[in-house]
Amino acid sequence: MVSHLPGHRNGSPNIGLMGGTFDPIHVGHLVTAEEARQQFDLNSVIFVPAGIPPHKDHETISHPEHRYLMTTLAVMSNPAFIVSRFEIDQHEPTYTIDTVRHFAKDQSPEPNIFFITGADAILEIFTWKDYEELLRLSTFIAVTRPGYSLDHFHETLERNCPQMKQKVHLLEIPALAVSSTHIRDRVALGKTIKYLTPEPVEQYIKKMELYRIQN
Ligand code: NAP
Repeated sequence: MVSHLPGHRNGSPNIGLMGGTFDPIHVGHLVTAEEARQQFDLNSVIFVPAGIPPHKDHETISHPEHRYLMTTLAVMSNPAFIVSRFEIDQHEPTYTIDTVRHFAKDQSPEPNIFFITGADAILEIFTWKDYEELLRLSTFIAVTRPGYSLDHFHETLERNCPQMKQKVHLLEIPALAVSSTHIRDRVALGKTIKYLTPEPVEQYIKKMELYRIQN
């Protein structure tokens, strides 16, 4: 499948960049990354916790170091998964184009990049910085939860950014019924989050007293 993708260079490594806030990371993200690794023949998946997202009020997001450490704890047992500090070490708003450029130029031969994130974010790409270059440099894997309307996705893509169609692949992940919002809400209500996130992450949330007060 991968060798037929537009812009794909045969013989170059395939690198997945898993973009998101990861506040906190959970089993849905891990299942997504593993499924993408297998379906798209990725040599590795690099989780890139967002630094200061350009489009968000950062008061309501946990400190980047917490999100980085939880992500690192979560991926420990998978040798194909890596966590990058690239975005969290920028002390200004970060843009996906800068991240993709960084990883595209970082290796020789230049890798085929697959940017993996939620489908709704991908539908907004035409508003992102330098999106035309982004579309040239990367293939996109748009991840959906059960119940997500695929008609809505295709219609919106057709309306807003038809040139993206060749570069976007949908991936439905039943395990994404779990969400970070749901985990934060459960912690705030004193409910268990066991099995919704790897145990070291659960312990970290407890020890650092994260999410005790609902945002
Ligand atoms: P977000 O707030 O973390 O997530 C939005 C939705 O997508 C949530 O439902 C989330 O579920 C889901 N999601 C997030 N990451 C996912 C992943 N890797 N796999 C599966 N589902 C995922 O993220 P966002 O603010 O929409 O941003 C997503 C990515 O796009 C980030 O890497 C961000 O930097 C990038 N972005 C770039 C620009 C730009 O360059 N101008 C603008 C917007 C976004 P959970 O809450 O359960 O994670």
